[in-house]
Amino acid sequence: MRVLPKLLVQCPDTGRRFLPQYGKLCAKSGVLVHSEVLATSDVSRLVVRERLLVQSDVSDRRALPEEMATCGESGKCVLPSELVPCELTGVQVLPEFLGQCAICSRHTVTRRHVSCGGCSGQYCTACVPGGLCLTCQSLQQLSLQPLDSLDAKLQEAIFKVFPAVGRVAMKQNNQ
Ligand SMILES: [Zn+2]
Ligand SMILES: [Zn+2]
Repeated sequence: MRVLPKLLVQCPDTGRRFLPQYGKLCAKSGVLVHSEVLATSDVSRLVVRERLLVQSDVSDRRALPEEMATCGESGKCVLPSELVPCELTGVQVLPEFLGQCAICSRHTVTRRHVSCGGCSGQYCTACVPGGLCLTCQSLQQLSLQPLDSLDAKLQEAIFKVFPAVGRVAMKQNNQ
């Protein structure tokens, strides 16, 4: 069957001419294109012209530019679902940038962890106010007797709750 040329439309993306019934509307631009140039956004599931999609910097998933998110540490352009929030600041980052703080157990940005002046442990900024971690501060406030004089059971319990205490105690014993 011959097709009247005027029934054909031209795909703006491929330049190919086709019958409208073989085309589909791009959900984003509303433009009629040939079905083969359409692809699905991995965020909104909208079927759009493939050329409108951008690829994540960390995977092969694609979405519309306005659906993408930025990693707060690396600046990488990724899908929102590929980010996790820092539990201290709420900043969205790639999971590889988070580490668990040994004191508060929150998952926070590892490279922003600071070193305690007492036990040298690395903790989130919230747990090391004024250069001394909360564990070392509570020890100071208690002005504990040398740990050796404590009841063994109590000592064991303290080590369990505050692993840093053990390190401080060993440090002191070595001096
Ligand atoms: Zn913490
Ligand atoms: Zn400390």
